[in-house]
Amino acid sequence: MSSLDSGARHMRRQCRSQESEASNLHGSGRRGDHTLQALPDRLWLSEANSSDWAVRRQTGRYQWLPILILCIFAISLAGCVRPPRPLPPARANDVVAEQNQSTPRTIYIQPLESLRAQPLGARRVRKEAVDEAASAIEATYKVKVVVLPTKPLPDAAYYKPRRRYRAEKLLSALEGMMPSGEDKIVGLTEVDISTTKGEYPDWGIFGLGNMPGQACVVSTWRLSSRKSQQIFRKRLGKVIVHELGHTFGLDHCPVRGCLMEDARGRVSTVDRETGFCESCRKRLREVLR
Ligand SMILES: [Zn+2]
Ligand SMILES: [Zn+2]
Repeated sequence: MSSLDSGARHMRRQCRSQESEASNLHGSGRRGDHTLQALPDRLWLSEANSSDWAVRRQTGRYQWLPILILCIFAISLAGCVRPPRPLPPARANDVVAEQNQSTPRTIYIQPLESLRAQPLGARRVRKEAVDEAASAIEATYKVKVVVLPTKPLPDAAYYKPRRRYRAEKLLSALEGMMPSGEDKIVGLTEVDISTTKGEYPDWGIFGLGNMPGQACVVSTWRLSSRKSQQIFRKRLGKVIVHELGHTFGLDHCPVRGCLMEDARGRVSTVDRETGFCESCRKRLREVLR
């Protein structure tokens, strides 16, 4: 075999190989169509890894996204352009609402005991007195009552000539014992207390309260009853409600039997009291509402 024949056979083999490749590329219509249809699939698969959302949008999976964005924008725009709500009409009880800002949330009971030698020995505050005070305050004023730990009566309030305590000085001390400046405090003691009343420089009293104010003080010394403990408890409750009434701004009342009646040193006046008169009740309601 000559080299020329060999070269000719080699060229024929190359031609058959090119014809075979051309047949694979363009071959039948079905194979060619399949190849062309598969191209976008491969494109999508390759682009799916590129996180190009624009290409994903062409697939139809995120066609709802622009609609959602438009909805959110429209809702927020509507909120911005909504006309302001009209102010509520002025109420007749706006004045009462202002007064309510000073209404106490809590009334504290501060038991005050004496460690000094008293005519009847050292005076501690009995639990039954504290319990009666708490129940009377809760029932009348509908507020929270907190009993503070017992403290000794302040020396500065002691009135040596009569061996008792000056009530107005106790009020000053009690204001300093109050946990919160927004509330009220009731000092409760079983020793005698006094204050200046008219022509009497040192007048023994049941209790005293700042009007209006935050502090009042009550003594059980003149409220005992030989008849029954029940009478004592009633007297104590009435006097505490009376003194707290002063702190809420109520003055003495001329109506016989009203809790704000001036006892003038007579316990019989306390015994005849039955409750607040209509006028005092109305004033108190306005303060406590
Ligand atoms: Zn009074
Ligand atoms: Zn009254």
